[in-house]
Amino acid sequence: MNETGLSEEEIISLLGDAKSKDFSYDRVLSSMCTTPHAVAVKAHMQFIESNMGDFGLFKGTHAMEKEVIRMTGNMLHCPGAEGYLTTGGTESNIQAVRSMRNLHERKNSGPRLNVVVPASAHFSFDKISDVLDIEVRKASLDRDFKASAEAMASLIDENTVGLVAIAGSTEFGQVDPVEEISGLALKHGLPLHIDAAFGGFVLPFLEEKHAFDFSLQGVTSIAVDPHKMGLSTIPAGILLFRDFRHLDCLKAHAPYLTVDSQYTLTGTRSGAAVAATFAVMKFLGKEGYTATVSRCMEMTRYLIREASVLGVEPVIDPVMNVVTLKVPDPAFIRSTLSREYNWHVSITREPKALRLVIMPHMSRGMIDMFVSDLAKVVETVRHQRR
Ligand SMILES: *Cc1c(COP(=O)(O)O)cnc(C)c1O
Repeated sequence: MNETGLSEEEIISLLGDAKSKDFSYDRVLSSMCTTPHAVAVKAHMQFIESNMGDFGLFKGTHAMEKEVIRMTGNMLHCPGAEGYLTTGGTESNIQAVRSMRNLHERKNSGPRLNVVVPASAHFSFDKISDVLDIEVRKASLDRDFKASAEAMASLIDENTVGLVAIAGSTEFGQVDPVEEISGLALKHGLPLHIDAAFGGFVLPFLEEKHAFDFSLQGVTSIAVDPHKMGLSTIPAGILLFRDFRHLDCLKAHAPYLTVDSQYTLTGTRSGAAVAATFAVMKFLGKEGYTATVSRCMEMTRYLIREASVLGVEPVIDPVMNVVTLKVPDPAFIRSTLSREYNWHVSITREPKALRLVIMPHMSRGMIDMFVSDLAKVVETVRHQRR
């Protein structure tokens, strides 16, 4: 650390330098995060010092958190759902599996406990395996990259603490057959967590309806991220439980605070993100989110049409605003797009394809520019192969 403090001007200049090295979202097609809504930013700034780790001191912010939980419970068809605002999908998933583990009654002291997830699960489940010392069993997918309920069933044994299904997979934006998996959970008496970190603020607002939430009796918890398609600020995730017992088993005694216990994984927790989420949900309402999602879906279909003109087809017909394109040599195309054209895209693991997330910061104009650069790069690869 420097011995004496710098001037505010010097700090501003350092910040400016750092900012100029960050990519601007208008060159980013790989992220599930986006520019937060202006209303969210305003609310975030107003509550910047609020700490939800000690919410007895911040009763107003806490009331907003309860309202966010109530609104989200309604959105996901469980008006009485209990939960809290996490730092995002990773924390929500950790806590959901931790709850499953805490509720599990061990039938023997034998091998490790396990949780059964689809192979398309987000990499947060690899962290979960390590943090909770639990085996994460990955079930194979069907031809459309959806979880196979049959494959999941074959992995369940007496040491299984619960099941996970994904509503909006990170790589393909695919939705698992949650209804079938809910039936499987009920049959085995297991809790079922839905990872809707990305899909939670998309699926309820799509024209085509998907059954993925608490309307299915087997679903016991859901993760949704306001800091992705909810247009809130980072860090904002939501974890909801149908049954208070599943949250209560996460309780830790909290000495020297205004509250005597915490259910959260983190201690000190952003009240600013709570205020931002409250503000943007109230501001947009169902109508605003429906308009946002339908604009993203229109751009998604537009990109698919434009890519097909280049002879580039999607891996699956997009269910949500995630596009995966079958291009020759995806890794080379990705690095060329980045190095020569300053576009940031990603690639999927299996099969390898170009992956683009069509977020609210995008526009048709941006897609046109991107497709014209993509055309050049694809042409180069095809030419080399001739
Ligand atoms: C983004 C994502 C996560 C992780 O969320 P973070 O907010 O990055 O922790 C988990 N699951 C799915 C399906 C996601 O898309």
